[in-house]
Amino acid sequence: MTIPREQIEFDVLFVGGGPASLAGAIHLMKLAKSKGIDLEVALIEKGADIGSHALSGAVLNPIALKELIPNYRESGCPIETDVRADEFYLLTRTRHYRIPSVPKSMHNKGFHIISLSKFVSWLGRVAEGLGVNVFPGFAGKEVLYGHDESTVIGVRTGDKGVGKDNAPKANFEPGIDIVAKVTVFGEGPRGSLLQAISKKLRIFEGKMPQVFETGIKEVIQLAETTYFSDSRGNDIHTFGHPLGFNTHGGGFIYEMNDNRVSLGLVVGLSYQDPMLDLYQEFIRFKRHPFISKLIKGGRVIEHGARTIVTGGYYTMPKLVVDGGLFVGASASMLNAPGLKGIHASMKSGMLAAEGIVEAFSEGDFTQETLSSYDQLFEESWLKKELYMGRNFTQAVSKKGIAKFLHIAAQYLTGGRGIIDKMTIQGDSRTLRCLKDDHLHRTRTYEKQAYDGVLFVDKLTGVYLSKTQHREDQPCHLVVRDPSLCINECFDTYRCPCTRFCPGNVYELEIDDKTQEKRLRLNPSNCLHCKTCEIKDPYRNITWICPEGGDGPGYTVV
Ligand code: SF4
Repeated sequence: MTIPREQIEFDVLFVGGGPASLAGAIHLMKLAKSKGIDLEVALIEKGADIGSHALSGAVLNPIALKELIPNYRESGCPIETDVRADEFYLLTRTRHYRIPSVPKSMHNKGFHIISLSKFVSWLGRVAEGLGVNVFPGFAGKEVLYGHDESTVIGVRTGDKGVGKDNAPKANFEPGIDIVAKVTVFGEGPRGSLLQAISKKLRIFEGKMPQVFETGIKEVIQLAETTYFSDSRGNDIHTFGHPLGFNTHGGGFIYEMNDNRVSLGLVVGLSYQDPMLDLYQEFIRFKRHPFISKLIKGGRVIEHGARTIVTGGYYTMPKLVVDGGLFVGASASMLNAPGLKGIHASMKSGMLAAEGIVEAFSEGDFTQETLSSYDQLFEESWLKKELYMGRNFTQAVSKKGIAKFLHIAAQYLTGGRGIIDKMTIQGDSRTLRCLKDDHLHRTRTYEKQAYDGVLFVDKLTGVYLSKTQHREDQPCHLVVRDPSLCINECFDTYRCPCTRFCPGNVYELEIDDKTQEKRLRLNPSNCLHCKTCEIKDPYRNITWICPEGGDGPGYTVV
């Protein structure tokens, strides 16, 4: 049955309400106005509000923000604190050692500690003030193509009010076809529409696979501030415990205002041990004596999880197709050695905006004309920054001494290192099989005691993310072959989805009497981090966008 759909036309459509799209939309409105070009611009965001799905470290390098809104402080930009100094620690199981010299790429003095959720919400208001039509609660579900099947002409938003059985309910609202001369995709890491475009237009052909880290993060209200003072750094990074040296990642603690800290652990999804449990690692990080002393007496006020795209320059897709541009994290815009992506995402959106203005000046929206975005990127500080870190994630994914040799060589050679264009495996391919591997030890975890205040269990964490999904809708996590989970994955990897999902969405049930196994899904717990689609060793899980407005409700993380 063909569903009649409303069609709305704009000049430019931004898909995704993160820093890339919002900075792009703001820059576009300003540039167009300065050149006397009148544009109708729209921006759609799947979260219920702009900022409700935004979660990041987050230390902001203000380089792009200064270009976008030079008087950002006076304009009400929500900054928690400024970075006074950086501290970098090696954690062993019970001790901590301050590293006297912080790597140059991680020098953040003068940068801003922000809540990404609040920052993005502010950018949304600035964009609206400039005339951008901002539509939160609308998920881009399908890419629309022209008659040639290769020109992007817009996006269809998801239907609302569809039942579990895929049948329309009484409150059914069909999705809208939003068509535009130019569509900018800024969906964030592992964008669903980007995956669809990639299959059709092969934008990742010849590139290395995009690789990811998953970060679990909390904002903690401290009882008293005993650690931070004017003489101490308020931007703290750690490595070592609990991940060790063969699994890359590390922890962070940033001082926020009102006696709060933002604390998190990031784990590289190239890890090999199928028994590794992301949430348990996060709890082990919090329980380290150095960290637990710092947060003692505190209370978790918000919790969330998100993936970060870390592969960098060599994993970037083609940035332009006919009628479409790719910006931000979905296009691998992140400075991996500096652990920062917000400024890179913003700048990519701004460069795309400059390319779009040129295309409107010429009245042509083909790949050829829009490619000025590509050229602008090549000439920008952003390219220089990303190119410096082009082999970094490949190096940190190495094991033992090789890791440190590669990193040192890259620091000495401006990113080239021992091998330039180091290869990397996709994250779904790195798990070791348990059944024929008796050489390696797998992780085990002690039973944790949760107080429900400072140490919360996974389900309380889900509650504190304020995630919600309408129950009666098709499951947005599609397990292609459930029998594979039980018949093959259990023996080989012990169903790692039950451990890499930070939202307790996947549960393995084993019948006491018959020993029959069943994988149960709780999709309403989903934090939209997409770890499952990335790490599943059989590529058996597909994350599809649920109804617009569903998902986390972040306000301060
Ligand atoms: Fe993340 Fe997938 Fe779990 Fe949702 S189901 S929280 S996307 S790992």
